[in-house]
Amino acid sequence: MVEHCIFCKIIAKTLPTQIIEENDSILVIKDIAPKAPIHYLILPKIHRPNLAALTPEDAQHAAEILFMAQALAKKQNIPAFRLVSNNGEQVGQSVFHIHFHFLAGKVLDF
Ligand code: 5GP
Ligand code: ZN
Repeated sequence: MVEHCIFCKIIAKTLPTQIIEENDSILVIKDIAPKAPIHYLILPKIHRPNLAALTPEDAQHAAEILFMAQALAKKQNIPAFRLVSNNGEQVGQSVFHIHFHFLAGKVLDF
């Protein structure tokens, strides 16, 4: 848990949010400002600033994110989805706790 990290607070349940799925290592929440009909954030519970900051020791966490995306799609019958992770302010990262955007429910033509 990193002080002043909004996602660490959400994971610690000290900030309210809409939870979609949870297991020992991952929390899936609804994005507060959705850019698609389905817009979830897949958050590993361990704090890392972004993908660029991962090390080989984090391989299990990285894999779990991908399989959580697959499980969400299966469970909710979502035929097509996009998984995006912004790395750095220049490309739009605003929260520096690694997360993957799970987007679906409309044609994403960008
Ligand atoms: P980024 O811009 O870092 O790639 O993505 C951060 C995402 O977190 C944004 O899509 C933003 O809408 C979402 N977000 C920011 N603050 C909160 C919050 O307090 N609760 C939830 N559920 N989403 C948030
Ligand atoms: Zn954090």
